[in-house]
Amino acid sequence: MPKIISAMQRALGASGPLAGKKLVVTAGGTQEPLDPVRYIGNRSSGKMGYAIAEEAFYAGADVTLISGAASIKPPYGIEVVYVGTTREMEQAVRGAVADADALVMAAAVADYAPREVSEQKIKKSEGGLTIDLEQNPDILAGLSEMSLPNLVRVGFAAETQNLLDNAKQKLDKKKLDMIVANEAVASIGADSSVLLLVNRDGNVEDLPPMPKSESARVIVERLANLLRQKAGANGS
Ligand code: C5P
Repeated sequence: MPKIISAMQRALGASGPLAGKKLVVTAGGTQEPLDPVRYIGNRSSGKMGYAIAEEAFYAGADVTLISGAASIKPPYGIEVVYVGTTREMEQAVRGAVADADALVMAAAVADYAPREVSEQKIKKSEGGLTIDLEQNPDILAGLSEMSLPNLVRVGFAAETQNLLDNAKQKLDKKKLDMIVANEAVASIGADSSVLLLVNRDGNVEDLPPMPKSESARVIVERLANLLRQKAGANGS
């Protein structure tokens, strides 16, 4: 979006539904190095997370965008922290959520990393190559070690099968307030998405196909509701 329009949108949202709220959004894909020139990564474009960061910024939020690899430019005016690996993203998230009101984990996080990173470029040799992988920490699940009673948590579930069941399981396991479930093959890297929004109370909202910019607007509206509910529950 042109900078002038972006600045106007932000000015219009200064007293919007997220005014005064601090939001952390992760986006893009983490990458795990194998050697100085190769890595294990994924096809995430960053489009969904960037669109959410942008919509939240226009709704008045103070947004920190923590970005892995992405194929597009970040939205104008938003503070971006770039990270490479899952562990780097974990550190950045843990630092940023301490004084945040909400976290939206839209990033496609690498679940495994090579146990050892070769200092030199791995040479081709006869036969195949076996890479030993170790499990990365789960960033969202690991937040339960921190005392963050007021943090609203939104996660994503990109699935190729049993979309709703898998999403509900992740919502519970990662102690989320809402999970955004999408069909992985159709959504990753695409400009549009077909989403299910699943809430902690079991409510499921089936969104029709729409551009990621529009689904981002719906997600930000639902996030504003969750923040209002939390504030109500805390009597503030
Ligand atoms: O378990 P799965 O990777 O499908 O969960 C997806 C959700 O969990 C996303 O919100 C993603 O950003 C987050 N995640 C995480 N740490 C990981 C893997 C995924 O926080 N190691």
